[in-house]
Amino acid sequence: MNTQNITITLSETKKEKPQSDQLEFGQVFTDHMFMMDYTEELGWHDPRIVPYQPITLDPASMIFHYGQSVFEGLKAYLTEDERILLFRPEKNFQRLNKSNDRLCIPEIDEELALTALKQLIETDREWIPTAEGTSLYIRPFVISTEPYLGVAPSGSYKFIMILSPVGSYYKEGIHPVKIAVETQFVRAVNGGTGTAKTGGNYASSLKAQEVSGKMGYSQVLWLDGVEKKYIEEVGSMNVFFKINGEIITPALNGSILQGVTRTSIIELLKYWNIPVTERRISMEEVRQAHKNGTLEEAFGTGTAAVISPIGEFFWQDEKLLINEGKTGELSKKLYDTLTGIQRGKLEDPLDWVV
Ligand code: PMP
Repeated sequence: MNTQNITITLSETKKEKPQSDQLEFGQVFTDHMFMMDYTEELGWHDPRIVPYQPITLDPASMIFHYGQSVFEGLKAYLTEDERILLFRPEKNFQRLNKSNDRLCIPEIDEELALTALKQLIETDREWIPTAEGTSLYIRPFVISTEPYLGVAPSGSYKFIMILSPVGSYYKEGIHPVKIAVETQFVRAVNGGTGTAKTGGNYASSLKAQEVSGKMGYSQVLWLDGVEKKYIEEVGSMNVFFKINGEIITPALNGSILQGVTRTSIIELLKYWNIPVTERRISMEEVRQAHKNGTLEEAFGTGTAAVISPIGEFFWQDEKLLINEGKTGELSKKLYDTLTGIQRGKLEDPLDWVV
Protein backbone atom coordinates (compact mmCIF):
# COMPACT_ATOMS: atom_id res chain seq x y z
CA MET A 1 0.00 0.00 0.00
CA ASN A 2 1.33 3.41 -0.97
CA THR A 3 1.38 5.44 2.24
CA GLN A 4 1.64 8.77 0.43
CA ASN A 5 -1.91 8.98 -0.90
CA ILE A 6 -3.87 9.88 2.21
CA THR A 7 -6.20 12.68 1.11
CA ILE A 8 -7.18 15.44 3.52
CA THR A 9 -10.48 17.35 3.43
CA LEU A 10 -10.52 20.04 6.10
CA SER A 11 -13.63 20.94 8.06
CA GLU A 12 -15.15 24.29 7.14
CA THR A 13 -16.27 24.97 10.68
CA LYS A 14 -14.42 24.41 13.93
CA LYS A 15 -16.14 23.11 17.03
CA GLU A 16 -15.72 24.84 20.36
CA LYS A 17 -12.98 23.20 22.42
CA PRO A 18 -13.69 22.24 26.04
CA GLN A 19 -11.71 23.70 28.94
CA SER A 20 -8.74 21.43 29.38
CA ASP A 21 -9.16 21.22 33.17
CA GLN A 22 -12.81 20.12 32.88
CA LEU A 23 -12.45 17.11 30.62
CA GLU A 24 -13.97 13.73 31.37
CA PHE A 25 -13.33 10.52 29.39
CA GLY A 26 -14.49 10.02 25.81
CA GLN A 27 -17.25 12.63 25.62
CA VAL A 28 -15.97 15.16 23.09
CA PHE A 29 -14.35 14.52 19.73
CA THR A 30 -12.07 16.61 17.55
CA ASP A 31 -12.82 18.25 14.18
CA HIS A 32 -11.49 15.45 11.95
CA MET A 33 -11.35 11.67 11.64
CA PHE A 34 -9.50 9.14 9.51
CA MET A 35 -11.38 6.64 7.40
CA MET A 36 -10.50 3.88 4.93
CA ASP A 37 -12.72 1.26 3.25
CA TYR A 38 -12.31 -2.41 2.40
CA THR A 39 -14.03 -4.32 -0.35
CA GLU A 40 -13.16 -7.72 -1.77
CA GLU A 41 -12.45 -6.17 -5.18
CA LEU A 42 -10.25 -3.27 -4.03
CA GLY A 43 -8.85 -4.41 -0.68
CA TRP A 44 -8.23 -1.52 1.77
CA HIS A 45 -8.52 1.69 -0.23
CA ASP A 46 -9.25 5.41 -0.18
CA PRO A 47 -7.40 6.39 3.02
CA ARG A 48 -8.64 9.86 3.94
CA ILE A 49 -8.85 12.45 6.66
CA VAL A 50 -12.27 14.08 6.62
CA PRO A 51 -14.37 16.31 8.91
CA TYR A 52 -15.66 14.39 11.95
CA GLN A 53 -19.15 13.27 10.98
CA PRO A 54 -21.80 10.57 11.44
CA ILE A 55 -21.54 7.55 9.15
CA THR A 56 -24.52 6.08 7.33
CA LEU A 57 -24.92 2.31 7.38
CA ASP A 58 -27.49 -0.08 5.97
CA PRO A 59 -29.57 -1.56 8.85
CA ALA A 60 -28.54 -5.00 7.61
CA SER A 61 -24.82 -4.16 8.05
CA MET A 62 -23.23 -7.13 9.75
CA ILE A 63 -21.76 -5.09 12.61
CA PHE A 64 -25.29 -4.58 14.01
CA HIS A 65 -26.06 -8.29 14.11
CA TYR A 66 -23.02 -10.42 14.83
CA GLY A 67 -20.60 -7.92 16.32
CA GLN A 68 -17.68 -8.47 13.97
CA SER A 69 -15.58 -5.50 15.10
CA VAL A 70 -12.26 -4.69 16.75
CA PHE A 71 -10.78 -1.59 18.37
CA GLU A 72 -7.70 -0.11 20.00
CA GLY A 73 -6.97 2.58 22.58
CA LEU A 74 -3.84 4.72 22.98
CA LYS A 75 -2.94 8.31 23.86
CA ALA A 76 -1.00 11.29 22.49
CA TYR A 77 0.67 13.74 24.87
CA LEU A 78 1.86 17.31 24.36
CA THR A 79 5.18 18.10 26.04
CA GLU A 80 6.10 21.44 27.58
CA ASP A 81 8.21 22.24 24.50
CA GLU A 82 5.18 21.46 22.26
CA ARG A 83 6.28 18.09 20.88
CA ILE A 84 3.54 15.48 20.35
CA LEU A 85 4.42 12.07 21.78
CA LEU A 86 2.88 8.65 21.21
CA PHE A 87 3.71 5.69 23.45
CA ARG A 88 4.65 2.55 21.47
CA PRO A 89 1.86 3.07 18.89
CA GLU A 90 3.20 0.26 16.69
CA LYS A 91 2.21 -2.17 19.46
CA ASN A 92 -1.41 -1.05 19.19
CA PHE A 93 -1.52 -1.56 15.42
CA GLN A 94 0.16 -4.96 15.79
CA ARG A 95 -2.50 -5.91 18.35
CA LEU A 96 -5.24 -4.54 16.08
CA ASN A 97 -4.07 -6.96 13.40
CA LYS A 98 -4.00 -9.83 15.90
CA SER A 99 -7.59 -8.96 16.80
CA ASN A 100 -8.44 -8.67 13.09
CA ASP A 101 -7.08 -12.15 12.49
CA ARG A 102 -9.19 -13.62 15.33
CA LEU A 103 -12.34 -11.90 14.01
CA CYS A 104 -11.70 -12.80 10.32
CA ILE A 105 -11.19 -9.13 9.41
CA PRO A 106 -8.61 -8.41 6.68
CA GLU A 107 -5.23 -7.18 7.90
CA ILE A 108 -4.52 -3.45 7.79
CA ASP A 109 -1.19 -1.92 6.74
CA GLU A 110 0.35 -1.01 10.12
CA GLU A 111 2.75 1.52 8.63
CA LEU A 112 -0.06 3.28 6.77
CA ALA A 113 -2.18 3.33 9.94
CA LEU A 114 0.63 4.98 11.92
CA THR A 115 1.33 7.52 9.15
CA ALA A 116 -2.40 8.31 8.98
CA LEU A 117 -2.59 8.67 12.77
CA LYS A 118 0.31 11.12 12.82
CA GLN A 119 -1.34 13.19 10.06
CA LEU A 120 -4.69 13.14 11.81
CA ILE A 121 -3.17 14.29 15.11
CA GLU A 122 -1.20 17.00 13.33
CA THR A 123 -4.45 18.17 11.67
CA ASP A 124 -6.17 18.41 15.07
CA ARG A 125 -3.13 19.31 17.17
CA GLU A 126 -4.90 22.30 18.73
CA TRP A 127 -7.20 19.78 20.42
CA ILE A 128 -4.46 18.17 22.50
CA PRO A 129 -5.22 19.37 26.02
CA THR A 130 -2.47 20.98 28.07
CA ALA A 131 -3.64 20.76 31.71
CA GLU A 132 -1.68 18.45 34.03
CA GLY A 133 -2.50 14.78 33.47
CA THR A 134 -4.66 15.32 30.35
CA SER A 135 -4.09 13.71 26.94
CA LEU A 136 -5.61 13.05 23.54
CA TYR A 137 -7.21 9.60 23.55
CA ILE A 138 -7.06 7.78 20.20
CA ARG A 139 -9.67 5.21 19.20
CA PRO A 140 -8.89 3.21 16.04
CA PHE A 141 -11.58 0.65 15.14
CA VAL A 142 -12.85 -1.59 12.37
CA ILE A 143 -16.50 -2.42 11.70
CA SER A 144 -18.09 -4.88 9.28
CA THR A 145 -20.41 -3.13 6.84
CA GLU A 146 -21.76 -5.69 4.36
CA PRO A 147 -25.59 -5.70 4.33
CA TYR A 148 -26.15 -9.44 4.77
CA LEU A 149 -27.79 -11.50 7.50
CA GLY A 150 -25.86 -14.72 6.95
CA VAL A 151 -23.42 -15.64 9.74
CA ALA A 152 -20.12 -15.29 7.85
CA PRO A 153 -17.21 -12.86 7.64
CA SER A 154 -18.31 -9.60 6.07
CA GLY A 155 -17.10 -8.73 2.56
CA SER A 156 -16.70 -5.01 3.38
CA TYR A 157 -15.35 -2.99 6.30
CA LYS A 158 -14.51 0.50 7.49
CA PHE A 159 -11.36 1.34 9.46
CA ILE A 160 -11.84 4.59 11.35
CA MET A 161 -9.76 6.59 13.83
CA ILE A 162 -11.30 9.25 16.07
CA LEU A 163 -9.66 11.47 18.69
CA SER A 164 -10.97 12.63 22.05
CA PRO A 165 -9.31 15.03 24.51
CA VAL A 166 -9.53 13.38 27.94
CA GLY A 167 -9.03 14.52 31.51
CA SER A 168 -6.60 13.24 34.06
CA TYR A 169 -7.52 9.77 35.33
CA TYR A 170 -6.42 10.77 38.84
CA LYS A 171 -7.74 14.25 39.54
CA GLU A 172 -6.65 14.02 43.20
CA GLY A 173 -3.45 12.01 42.66
CA ILE A 174 -2.94 8.26 42.31
CA HIS A 175 -5.10 6.34 44.81
CA PRO A 176 -6.07 2.68 45.41
CA VAL A 177 -9.37 1.14 44.33
CA LYS A 178 -11.55 -1.58 45.88
CA ILE A 179 -12.03 -4.69 43.76
CA ALA A 180 -14.65 -7.46 43.97
CA VAL A 181 -13.48 -10.90 42.84
CA GLU A 182 -16.06 -12.13 40.31
CA THR A 183 -17.27 -15.63 41.11
CA GLN A 184 -20.33 -15.97 38.86
CA PHE A 185 -19.54 -14.39 35.48
CA VAL A 186 -16.40 -14.92 33.40
CA ARG A 187 -14.70 -12.63 30.88
CA ALA A 188 -13.04 -15.12 28.55
CA VAL A 189 -12.00 -18.72 28.11
CA ASN A 190 -9.07 -20.31 26.35
CA GLY A 191 -10.02 -20.62 22.68
CA GLY A 192 -12.48 -17.72 22.93
CA THR A 193 -11.85 -14.07 22.06
CA GLY A 194 -10.19 -12.85 25.29
CA THR A 195 -6.88 -12.15 23.55
CA ALA A 196 -8.62 -9.90 21.00
CA LYS A 197 -9.95 -6.38 21.56
CA THR A 198 -13.44 -6.95 20.23
CA GLY A 199 -16.69 -5.31 21.32
CA GLY A 200 -18.35 -8.53 22.48
CA ASN A 201 -15.83 -8.99 25.30
CA TYR A 202 -16.85 -5.63 26.73
CA ALA A 203 -20.58 -6.16 26.23
CA SER A 204 -20.37 -9.41 28.19
CA SER A 205 -18.42 -7.76 31.02
CA LEU A 206 -21.08 -5.15 31.81
CA LYS A 207 -23.30 -7.32 34.01
CA ALA A 208 -20.54 -8.21 36.47
CA GLN A 209 -19.46 -4.57 36.57
CA GLU A 210 -23.04 -3.47 37.31
CA VAL A 211 -23.47 -5.95 40.16
CA SER A 212 -20.11 -5.15 41.81
CA GLY A 213 -20.69 -1.41 41.32
CA LYS A 214 -23.91 -1.65 43.35
CA MET A 215 -21.88 -3.30 46.12
CA GLY A 216 -19.49 -0.34 46.18
CA TYR A 217 -16.60 -1.87 44.24
CA SER A 218 -15.09 -0.02 41.30
CA GLN A 219 -13.99 -3.01 39.19
CA VAL A 220 -14.08 -6.79 39.17
CA LEU A 221 -11.20 -9.24 39.27
CA TRP A 222 -11.77 -11.85 36.57
CA LEU A 223 -10.94 -15.47 37.32
CA ASP A 224 -10.31 -18.17 34.72
CA GLY A 225 -13.40 -19.39 32.89
CA VAL A 226 -13.01 -23.09 33.68
CA GLU A 227 -12.09 -23.61 37.34
CA LYS A 228 -12.71 -20.03 38.54
CA LYS A 229 -9.54 -20.30 40.61
CA TYR A 230 -6.80 -18.57 38.67
CA ILE A 231 -6.47 -14.80 38.27
CA GLU A 232 -6.75 -13.33 34.77
CA GLU A 233 -7.38 -9.57 34.64
CA VAL A 234 -8.91 -6.73 36.63
CA GLY A 235 -11.70 -4.70 34.95
CA SER A 236 -10.18 -3.79 31.59
CA MET A 237 -6.63 -3.92 32.89
CA ASN A 238 -3.91 -6.52 33.39
CA VAL A 239 -2.94 -7.27 36.98
CA PHE A 240 0.30 -7.56 38.97
CA PHE A 241 1.06 -8.71 42.53
CA LYS A 242 4.06 -8.28 44.80
CA ILE A 243 4.26 -11.22 47.18
CA ASN A 244 7.26 -11.66 49.47
CA GLY A 245 9.41 -9.59 47.09
CA GLU A 246 8.35 -11.56 43.97
CA ILE A 247 6.53 -9.60 41.26
CA ILE A 248 3.98 -11.81 39.56
CA THR A 249 1.58 -11.31 36.67
CA PRO A 250 -0.66 -14.01 35.17
CA ALA A 251 1.03 -15.64 32.15
CA LEU A 252 -0.60 -15.07 28.74
CA ASN A 253 -2.60 -18.26 28.69
CA GLY A 254 -4.86 -17.75 25.70
CA SER A 255 -7.64 -15.80 27.41
CA ILE A 256 -5.78 -12.69 28.66
CA LEU A 257 -5.37 -9.52 26.59
CA GLN A 258 -1.69 -8.64 26.07
CA GLY A 259 -1.64 -5.07 27.35
CA VAL A 260 0.95 -2.62 26.03
CA THR A 261 1.31 -1.32 29.61
CA ARG A 262 1.80 -4.89 30.91
CA THR A 263 4.57 -5.56 28.36
CA SER A 264 6.21 -2.22 29.19
CA ILE A 265 6.15 -2.87 32.95
CA ILE A 266 7.75 -6.29 32.51
CA GLU A 267 10.46 -4.75 30.31
CA LEU A 268 11.01 -1.85 32.74
CA LEU A 269 11.31 -4.17 35.76
CA LYS A 270 13.83 -6.31 33.87
CA TYR A 271 15.75 -3.16 32.93
CA TRP A 272 15.87 -2.30 36.65
CA ASN A 273 17.10 -5.84 37.41
CA ILE A 274 13.96 -6.55 39.41
CA PRO A 275 12.83 -10.15 38.75
CA VAL A 276 9.29 -10.53 37.44
CA THR A 277 7.49 -13.83 36.93
CA GLU A 278 4.75 -14.55 34.41
CA ARG A 279 2.96 -17.55 35.83
CA ARG A 280 -0.36 -18.96 36.96
CA ILE A 281 -1.53 -17.41 40.24
CA SER A 282 -4.66 -18.42 42.12
CA MET A 283 -6.92 -16.34 44.33
CA GLU A 284 -6.20 -18.85 47.11
CA GLU A 285 -2.47 -18.06 46.85
CA VAL A 286 -3.30 -14.36 47.22
CA ARG A 287 -5.49 -15.10 50.25
CA GLN A 288 -2.71 -17.14 51.88
CA ALA A 289 -0.18 -14.38 51.18
CA HIS A 290 -2.54 -11.86 52.75
CA LYS A 291 -3.00 -14.12 55.78
CA ASN A 292 0.70 -14.57 56.42
CA GLY A 293 1.55 -10.93 55.74
CA THR A 294 3.50 -11.36 52.48
CA LEU A 295 0.99 -9.72 50.10
CA GLU A 296 2.79 -6.41 49.70
CA GLU A 297 1.08 -4.82 46.68
CA ALA A 298 -1.42 -5.42 43.91
CA PHE A 299 -2.13 -3.15 40.93
CA GLY A 300 -3.90 -3.04 37.59
CA THR A 301 -2.18 -1.76 34.43
CA GLY A 302 -3.64 -0.19 31.27
CA THR A 303 -3.59 2.83 28.98
CA ALA A 304 -6.34 4.71 30.84
CA ALA A 305 -4.95 4.74 34.39
CA VAL A 306 -1.40 3.47 33.62
CA ILE A 307 -1.17 2.02 37.15
CA SER A 308 -4.22 1.48 39.35
CA PRO A 309 -3.21 0.37 42.87
CA ILE A 310 -5.57 -2.10 44.53
CA GLY A 311 -6.37 -1.36 48.18
CA GLU A 312 -8.83 -4.15 48.87
CA PHE A 313 -10.14 -7.42 47.43
CA PHE A 314 -13.57 -8.78 48.33
CA TRP A 315 -13.70 -12.56 47.85
CA GLN A 316 -16.00 -15.21 49.33
CA ASP A 317 -17.36 -12.87 52.03
CA GLU A 318 -13.87 -11.88 53.08
CA LYS A 319 -12.17 -8.49 52.73
CA LEU A 320 -8.45 -8.59 52.05
CA LEU A 321 -6.92 -5.20 52.84
CA ILE A 322 -3.62 -4.59 51.00
CA ASN A 323 -0.86 -2.30 52.28
CA GLU A 324 -3.40 -0.74 54.70
CA GLY A 325 -5.37 0.43 51.64
CA LYS A 326 -2.53 2.75 50.63
CA THR A 327 -0.59 3.09 47.35
CA GLY A 328 2.48 0.85 47.48
CA GLU A 329 6.04 1.99 46.81
CA LEU A 330 6.47 -0.07 43.62
CA SER A 331 3.08 1.04 42.21
CA LYS A 332 4.04 4.67 42.76
CA LYS A 333 7.51 4.25 41.25
CA LEU A 334 6.14 2.50 38.15
CA TYR A 335 3.41 5.13 37.77
CA ASP A 336 5.86 8.04 38.05
CA THR A 337 8.36 6.45 35.68
CA LEU A 338 5.88 5.39 32.97
CA THR A 339 3.91 8.65 32.98
CA GLY A 340 7.22 10.57 33.02
CA ILE A 341 8.45 8.70 29.93
CA GLN A 342 5.08 9.01 28.16
CA ARG A 343 4.97 12.76 28.71
CA GLY A 344 8.59 13.36 27.76
CA LYS A 345 9.56 14.45 31.30
CA LEU A 346 11.94 11.55 31.95
CA GLU A 347 14.62 9.90 29.86
CA ASP A 348 13.27 7.10 27.61
CA PRO A 349 15.88 4.37 28.16
CA LEU A 350 14.08 1.67 26.15
CA ASP A 351 13.19 3.88 23.17
CA TRP A 352 9.45 3.65 23.52
CA VAL A 353 8.28 7.11 22.63
CA VAL A 354 7.49 8.15 19.05
N1 PMP B 1 -7.15 -5.95 29.38
C1 PMP B 1 -8.25 -5.50 28.76
C2 PMP B 1 -9.44 -6.40 28.68
C3 PMP B 1 -8.28 -4.22 28.19
O1 PMP B 1 -9.37 -3.76 27.57
C4 PMP B 1 -7.13 -3.39 28.30
C5 PMP B 1 -7.14 -2.00 27.74
N2 PMP B 1 -6.71 -2.00 26.39
C6 PMP B 1 -5.99 -3.91 28.95
C7 PMP B 1 -6.04 -5.19 29.48
C8 PMP B 1 -4.73 -3.10 29.08
O2 PMP B 1 -4.13 -2.95 27.83
P1 PMP B 1 -3.21 -1.69 27.49
O3 PMP B 1 -2.12 -1.69 28.51
O4 PMP B 1 -2.71 -1.95 26.11
O5 PMP B 1 -4.08 -0.49 27.57
